This record gives sequence, C-alpha cells and structure tokens, in this order.
Amino acid sequence: MKSRGEKLVIAIDGEAGSGKSTVAKEVAQRLGFRKLDTGAMYRAITLLAIERGIALSSAAEIEELSRRTEMNVWWEDDDFRIAVDGRDVTTEIRSSAVTAAVSEVSAHEGMRKVLVDKQREIGRRYDIVAEGRDMGTVVFRDTKLKFFLRANDAVRARRRKKDLDNLGEKMDIEKIREDILIRDEKDASRRVAPLKMAEDAFLIDTSDMNVDEVVALILAKVRDHESFRHRRVE
Ligand code: C5P
Repeated sequence: MKSRGEKLVIAIDGEAGSGKSTVAKEVAQRLGFRKLDTGAMYRAITLLAIERGIALSSAAEIEELSRRTEMNVWWEDDDFRIAVDGRDVTTEIRSSAVTAAVSEVSAHEGMRKVLVDKQREIGRRYDIVAEGRDMGTVVFRDTKLKFFLRANDAVRARRRKKDLDNLGEKMDIEKIREDILIRDEKDASRRVAPLKMAEDAFLIDTSDMNVDEVVALILAKVRDHESFRHRRVE
C-alpha cells in the first residue's frame, strides 16, 4: 500500500490485561504499520531506577534518569524491541518486580514529557499502532482512530498469569488479580495523563471476545474511516 502525506496513528488504550498489546501487534501486522508499546518505555525507566537504587518517589531523580538514558526502539520481524544505553531490555522489563513499581514511576510529569516527546517523534516517522494509557487523550489526541479496550478482572488476571507463566514466573492468580486492580487504580487516579477513555474513542469489551474478533472489529473501523481511506493512492 502506498501512502502520501502525514503518517497515521491508531491509538489503543486500556486497562492492564485488556488485551491491548496482542491486539495492537496483530492490527499493526495486518496493516503494515509498526506497533509502539509505550508501556515498555515506562517499564524500561523503572527497571533502571530499581537497578540503580534510585528513589521511585523522586520526581527529580526519575526525570534526570530519563534525560540521561539513551532509549532506542526498533522492530525485528514485526516484534517491538527496546534498548536503554545500548542494552536490550525487551524481556527483562516484563518481570513482576518492574510491573509492581512502574505505576509509581510513571506518575512523574517531568519524565513523562521526555517519553512523550519520543513517542511523538516515532509517530511522525512511521505509521503506528500506539498502545498505552494516554494515547487517545494526550499523546496522539488528534488522531481520529482511537480505541479503548477493557475486560473483566477474572479474564485479565488469567491473561496476565499466562504471560508470567511464559516468563517462568509462578504467581498466584488471586494475587495477580489484586495487583492488576491496584495498578489500574494508581494509573487512573494520577494527576498527569491518567488512564481514561478519550471521549471520541471506540470502546471494546474484550472479556468474551478472542483476539481475532477484536482485531477484525478494529480493522473494520479503521478501513471504514475517512482518514484511512483518503490517504491511499489507488
Ligand atoms: O502497558 P503496560 O502494562 O506494559 O504498562 C505498564 C505501566 O506503564 C502502566 O501500568 C502505566 O503505569 C504506565 N504507562 C503509562 N502511560 C502509557 C503506557 C504505560 O503511564 N502510555
């Protein structure tokens, strides 16, 4: 598909375990876009803060860390990858230690500005499917292609357990459920860029849907939208 003019951004936001990441990857693949995993960027800063013993509550230190860190993202066979200061941390950032700490770190405004600038720069260079918490409300608020995914707690806990099992981390499902709820509460109640559905986003409850169904729904909406159709060179 040839295109002209500005790059397109499809924004997918949602709660932890709502299926965003899997769905975003598949949608990106089907359209020949790149998936931008913005959660991975917050996780990478969190990993470094933990490793270096930086106080997670210190807005100034976390901001400085984000300014000093060289962050690179790239794609290998459609898989999104991320490196900090030349070190590939794509797998490490999925650990439960990082997951437990990331909401505290991502609440700091100064650090968010640094990462948001990077996210917008990537959005200017490539057609992307951007997934996170504030894609439709803040970072790419001008895009007309916005989706918000949600699912019930039990389903989200089961999905997260599968992810952790794949990483070789054994965790009790009830504990996972509690952690998800705590993280959503923190993400939704923070002052800066809280987890919230954009007013013009399309809401999808994925509890009783499989990945293919969610992907098909999003693709149908995107293909039908004038901002997608108008940029095609027939
Ligand atoms: O999407 P994922 O679960 O990997 O995100 C990890 C955390 O990063 C979220 O719980 C949230 O605290 C933070 N985040 C954010 N803004 C985004 C994406 C993620 O604050 N756009």
